[in-house]
Amino acid sequence: MPDRPEESLDPASWEEFSAHSHAVLTELLEWLRTIRERPAWQPVPETVRAALRRPLPRQGVGLEASWDELRSSVLPYPWGNIHPRFWGWVVGTGSPSGAMAELATAILNTNAGGGHQAAPYVEEQVIDWCKTMVGFPPESSGVLVTGGSVANLVALAAARDAGDTRISEEGVGVVAGGAVFYTSAQTHNSVDKAVRLLGLGQRGLRTIPVDAEFRIDIALLERAIAEDRAAGRHPFCVIGNAGTVNTGAIDDLTVLADLCKREKLWFHVDGAFGALAALSAELRPLVAGMERADSVAFDLHKWLYMPYDVGCVLVRDREAHRRPFAASHASYLSREARGAAPNDHDPGSLAPELSREFRGLKVWMLLQEHGIEKYARLIEQNVAQARYLAGCVHRHPELELMAPVPLNVVCLRYVGGVTAAKKTEGEAMDAMNREILMRIQERGIAVPSSTVLNGRFAVRVAITNHRSRREDFDMLVAAMVEIGAEVAAGH
Ligand SMILES: *Cc1c(COP(=O)(O)O)cnc(C)c1O
Repeated sequence: MPDRPEESLDPASWEEFSAHSHAVLTELLEWLRTIRERPAWQPVPETVRAALRRPLPRQGVGLEASWDELRSSVLPYPWGNIHPRFWGWVVGTGSPSGAMAELATAILNTNAGGGHQAAPYVEEQVIDWCKTMVGFPPESSGVLVTGGSVANLVALAAARDAGDTRISEEGVGVVAGGAVFYTSAQTHNSVDKAVRLLGLGQRGLRTIPVDAEFRIDIALLERAIAEDRAAGRHPFCVIGNAGTVNTGAIDDLTVLADLCKREKLWFHVDGAFGALAALSAELRPLVAGMERADSVAFDLHKWLYMPYDVGCVLVRDREAHRRPFAASHASYLSREARGAAPNDHDPGSLAPELSREFRGLKVWMLLQEHGIEKYARLIEQNVAQARYLAGCVHRHPELELMAPVPLNVVCLRYVGGVTAAKKTEGEAMDAMNREILMRIQERGIAVPSSTVLNGRFAVRVAITNHRSRREDFDMLVAAMVEIGAEVAAGH
């Protein structure tokens, strides 16, 4: 190694760096303030995509030039989920205070994987608040993770290892006949992914048909469990939905809790967004029974509008939660009696990650700033908006609702300019609505997404957006009708 002056990544002039940083902060906040004035979405042009295919930079271009790149290639082309008319998939909005908390998180840049520092105490506090939110007992266990997918994975790992305690030592092969998990056909694919990652294979997850309201058919579930037992397989776990991704359907969680108790099965609830309905006194009855689950997974970056990414998993039995993750032998992680080493707060023994972002900080800051009642009101506001939109669709002769609206998801399609006979020609209707959806997105009007319900294409509006106003839904209805007429006329 040549002998040369030492350098670091800190700025040569902190004063200049500070001036630059204040200026970009002002600029970014202005960009966020004016988001409503811009298109809900626009495609990334080929010129920009080309600019994003450059070789690895050998020499840096410097601070100002790197920010110019951000201004030209990134800021004009967001996905749109911070826009008031983004209702695609289930994507949260974030908030200005959330962004500032992220800045603090980045400046602290701690590894919240443990250690004697404030971070784990903050996270324990946040997890305790999460228990209160969904009605879990204080003595239950929990951990913050990247989102619902990992939250489901963590809970289902605990369910698997609780199903037969020999598994953590000997592997899933020890369960002769195979372990089986059950869930509805409307369940999010992260559950399917988790079950396969856990070594149970596709056949380890039995998907049960749903009723007319897209809820798991309990009689068919009971029959499947009985058949599996009779065939020598081992039912382990039932996964209930508190808000399905397609339509926001909520399984009968009380009946599922009773069934799991009777059948001695682990009861997990995927409440990615729907679990938070429990914050509202008016909506809480919809998710009754969730508080009796063995585990519940939910996101804070969806219906609590927290910045990406943060989700939470709660597990009633502390031992069961640790079983799949606890470090068995790792001398480099040993604990000392005093000093900065990891202590009792040990998220690394509750989830796959060891090093971890200090996700709890933003949650702790935001919950303090706004208070949970504000979040409850925003959730109620989104549900009221979904009902308002459903009402508009219901009344409009050229629009049709495709599913009940129990929560914050509305599935609809355009049926105008189509004779009753042709309406049954599903494929033409699907193609027409697919085209309408793409035009609504491409014109920057709004971003709903789509799904398929009972084999038919639906435009899907999932509202986890604190910026949306009623007039935004009026605009969507008007666009559906206007563009619908255009497409139906073959333009
Ligand atoms: C979004 C979602 C998930 C996955 O959560 P991520 O945060 O995207 O990992 C799981 N289940 C449901 C019902 C969801 O809506």
